[in-house]
Amino acid sequence: MEAGTRQGIHSSLSRDDSGLAIIGFILFPLPSLPVLLLAIGGVMLGGFGTTVCYHRAISHRSVKLNPVLEQFLIFWTMFNGSGAPASWSAYHRRHHARSDQLEDVSSPAHGGFWWAHLRWLYQSERADVKRWAPDLDTPVYRFWRAIEVPVILLSLFAGVYWGWEGFFWIGAIRLVYSLHMQCLVNSVMHLGAKVGDSDSSRNIWWLGPFQMTAWGENWHRNHHSFANSAQFGLKWYQIDIGWYAILAFEKLGLATNVKRPKLSKQTATSSDDLQQAA
Ligand SMILES: [Zn+2]
Ligand SMILES: [Zn+2]
Repeated sequence: MEAGTRQGIHSSLSRDDSGLAIIGFILFPLPSLPVLLLAIGGVMLGGFGTTVCYHRAISHRSVKLNPVLEQFLIFWTMFNGSGAPASWSAYHRRHHARSDQLEDVSSPAHGGFWWAHLRWLYQSERADVKRWAPDLDTPVYRFWRAIEVPVILLSLFAGVYWGWEGFFWIGAIRLVYSLHMQCLVNSVMHLGAKVGDSDSSRNIWWLGPFQMTAWGENWHRNHHSFANSAQFGLKWYQIDIGWYAILAFEKLGLATNVKRPKLSKQTATSSDDLQQAA
């Protein structure tokens, strides 16, 4: 599918999704407990997959996950509206390599909060997978890209099984919540002036609880400083759910090549660095 067509489908899906979420909220402001738990479960699985699998394992190669675990997490991350792993990684590697520069399309420097939060997703040029993530231009990742739209349609409509409140809460409301939680990483965590001679990334403690199982992504300054490290929360009080899970996976033999910050002092600045670090 052409990139432009795919972007158009995503754009209209996202708009329809937001409209459906608002309607759902008006019609069913208080869902039943099972429906609420299923919606939260989807957010948690997707958020966990985004931070552990898409971000730390696939984009930065700071941990190698068991292949079955990786594929399982990719499904739930796509189900939660994060897109296919290769394109997510291409955007993300470009973000690190070109932080706050012209090519860092999601930077608030280009158009303020709303640009960085959402508009860039639909109005900027896509990151080229062949350039930024050539290691992910393989049949398995191309397969995920090919089924991106069917997975998101399944995600939107699966809740119908639990009636109308399930349709709205497990579908559109969950997806809109997850979308904004992810977008905050690009917007508020890069809003403001550069710190010293580095980039504009920030640690924002209060965002952590809202991110649920992706709590740890909010230590974004730490992450930019040690981009090759699988550990984002560097102080004992900086809660990092993804890191605790990676340690547990390592003990269980489901994760290997785990990179700690002290072993990776240098900050990755290009996709070449990221691949060399793998
Ligand atoms: Zn990163
Ligand atoms: Zn950043």
